[in-house]
Amino acid sequence: MKESRVRVLLVGSAGRMGKVIVDLAKREPNIEIAAQCDLGDDVAAAMQNCDVAIDFSQPGAVEEICRAALQGRRPLVIGTTGHSPEQRRLIEEAAESLPIVFASNFSVGVNALFALTGKAVRILGDEFDLEIIETHHVMKKDAPSGTAKTLAEILKHARTSDKKIPIQSIREGEVVGEHTVIFDGAGERLELVHRARSRETFAKGALRAAEWVIGKPAGLYTMQDVLGL
Ligand code: NAD
Repeated sequence: MKESRVRVLLVGSAGRMGKVIVDLAKREPNIEIAAQCDLGDDVAAAMQNCDVAIDFSQPGAVEEICRAALQGRRPLVIGTTGHSPEQRRLIEEAAESLPIVFASNFSVGVNALFALTGKAVRILGDEFDLEIIETHHVMKKDAPSGTAKTLAEILKHARTSDKKIPIQSIREGEVVGEHTVIFDGAGERLELVHRARSRETFAKGALRAAEWVIGKPAGLYTMQDVLGL
């Protein structure tokens, strides 16, 4: 049933995540990577022949990607992290006209960690000191990681205290991604830990988001929406 496959444009296709998505998509019967773009390629032209675009490149690419998506009226899945406030605004503006899934982490396990973190901080209250530790491979460009920033936002929203939440970023070897949320109280300490062992977990989530976002009303969605959490 080749005709019913979702045709994906992959931006950042030569990168670590891009290569894993290309490999994974070969095993997905409903998805075809119909076009690939990397540095210097024309995103708008490549998008013409596709149903949806997935971006795992770098924050500076977002302007071209949003412009092309608005022109071609194509939904977007954005996995790139480390955007500036201005670059985030471009995504929010585009989401007024297009459905966009924008997620700092596409793994099901990390999205469970997001939900559990909110629950834990509501149970433990303001008495506990909070800290986030994230570890990634030495080639990672942004720090703290997008996932650590999302965790910090969840913690901030769920507690009444406005005490700063420290984030420790460690860059080490080839670590795919580890996040620990620490709740340190009088006489006890709770740690929630997620360790990604393979990039395939992010790739799987991004392809699932690409299928999900087609036909959705304009808006900015997260992986929590895709998973129905
Ligand atoms: P990478 O550096 O290995 O790959 C990025 C690729 O994008 C490179 O091939 C580069 O040439 C290309 N690129 C750069 N500028 C471009 C442009 N203007 N147009 C098209 N292509 C361009 O990085 P990576 O490890 O694959 O990660 C990519 C991004 O995804 C990072 O921001 C990373 O933090 C993020 N990430 C997100 C998740 C998630 O679940 N959301 C998971 C892993 C990585």
